[in-house]
Amino acid sequence: MHTFFADPQGMVTIVCPHCSRERRIDAARYKQGKKPLLVTCSCGHRFESHLELRQAPRKRVQLAGEYTHLETQERDELLIQNLSLTGMRFSIPDPHDVRMGDRLRVSFVLETPLRPTITRELEITGISRQVIHGRFTNAPARDADLGFYLMSQPQD
Ligand SMILES: [Zn+2]
Repeated sequence: MHTFFADPQGMVTIVCPHCSRERRIDAARYKQGKKPLLVTCSCGHRFESHLELRQAPRKRVQLAGEYTHLETQERDELLIQNLSLTGMRFSIPDPHDVRMGDRLRVSFVLETPLRPTITRELEITGISRQVIHGRFTNAPARDADLGFYLMSQPQD
């Protein structure tokens, strides 16, 4: 069983555990059903999904990280302000060329005792002045390090 969280627009991105293909569906259409949704991917893989209509737990943070722009290979530092299992809000202190729809590889170290490094691919879903929003495109179905971090301290 895989759990997928709604984004602020109420859309859920379902990722096939076999081929990683993504499908975005409107969570509201499935609101009534408590039973899992059986999804058949175009690769033929069938899997049960639980759509979580509340958003993923998110947390206000102050974490420094870095990014590599997957197209231009530009690398620089970023500052994460808000983090969840499905995405993050951040700023880039230096002048940059990051645009809506761009893909970045981001990495950052969690301030937990083991100091795990989290690396994700991120699609930019919103930019307004200094604030950039992105969603993780390769978030694993289970993420012990990040999940523990998000649950272990107060959330906003
Ligand atoms: Zn598939």
